[in-house]
Amino acid sequence: MTSHNFLAALTGSFSTPCADNPTVAMIEAAYRHHGMNARYINCDVKPEGLADAVRGAKAMGWAGFNCSIPHKVAILSHLDRLAESAAIIGAVNCVVIRDGALIGENTDGKGFLTSLTQVMDPAGKTVCLLGAGGAARAIAVELALAGARHLTIVNRDARRGQDIAALITESTPADARFVAWDGAFAVPEDTQILINATSVGLGDAEAMPAIDCDSLRPGLVVADVIPNPPKTALLRAAEKRGCVTLDGLGMLVNQGVISVRLWFGTSPEPSVMARTLEDIFGVR
Ligand code: NDP
Repeated sequence: MTSHNFLAALTGSFSTPCADNPTVAMIEAAYRHHGMNARYINCDVKPEGLADAVRGAKAMGWAGFNCSIPHKVAILSHLDRLAESAAIIGAVNCVVIRDGALIGENTDGKGFLTSLTQVMDPAGKTVCLLGAGGAARAIAVELALAGARHLTIVNRDARRGQDIAALITESTPADARFVAWDGAFAVPEDTQILINATSVGLGDAEAMPAIDCDSLRPGLVVADVIPNPPKTALLRAAEKRGCVTLDGLGMLVNQGVISVRLWFGTSPEPSVMARTLEDIFGVR
C-alpha cells in the first residue's frame, strides 16, 4: 500500500481590505516550486474578527500567518512572545505558531535590510529616512539594530517623526534626529544611505518625494520601499546621478522569504517569488 499525506501545512494572511494583496501568489509559487505540501490563504479579517481568526488558526494547527493593515498593532494582545525588533517597533506582521505558542515577528524592516546588505552594510553608516509611518519605523529599528550610526528622520507630521527619532535614541545603540519636511529636502552631504519610506510613488510612476535632486550624488545608496511600480521617479532620478539604487519589490520578496523561513525553517528561492510579482505588476 502506498502512503499519502492529504494534510497540507496551513499559512496565510489576515487583513482587510486584502483582495489586491499579491503575497498569496508569491508565496504559493514558492511552495509549488519547492514541492511543499503547504497552502497560503488570503483571509479578509475585519477588526472585530481578529480574535476569532487567531483562535481558529491555532485550533487548526496553522504554521503561522502574516497580518497587515489594520491588525499590525491589535495583534499584539493575542501573542505569547515578541521577537526583539517587533517588541521595539511595537508592531507585528508575521506570527509563528510553535508548540501552541504565538510568537510575533516584524519582517518589514528585515526584508529591507536583506536588500540593503546586498549593496551596503549599514553598520557605522549615516542614514536619511524619508517618512515616519509603519514601514519607516520598522526600517529605522532594524537599521539601528544592524549598527547604523546615525539616522535622520524626515517627515511632514512632526509628532510621528519625533516619535521614531526618540524610539531609536532611547531603545537602540544608534543616534537619531528629526527634521521637519517642508519644501525640497536637500540630502545632507555625509549621508551614505537615503530611503524613501513614504507612500509617494505607490501606483504612480511619476510621483516624486520633495527632495533637491542636486543633493543626490554618485555612490549614494538610494532605496525605495514602493513595490509597484518598482522603478519609481526617485530611483530613476537617482540612477541618472550615479547613485546605487534598490527597489521595493526586492523588499517585498525578502519579506516572503523570511516568513516562509520563520514558519518552516527553510529558505525558499527568491527568484521564483520575484518573477511571480514581476508578472503580476507587468514589470517584464
Ligand atoms: P503609513 O500610512 O503608515 O505612512 C505613510 C508615510 O508617508 C507617512 O510618513 C506620511 O507622512 C508619508 N507621506 C504620504 N504622502 C506624502 C507626501 N505627499 N509627501 C511626504 N510624505 C508623505 O504607510 P506605511 O509606512 O505602512 O507604508 C508606506 C509605504 O511603504 C506604502 O507605499 C507601502 O506600500 C510601502 N511598503 C512597502 C513594503 C515592501 O515590502 N516593499 C512593506 C511595507 C510598506 P505624514 O506622517 O506626514 O503623513
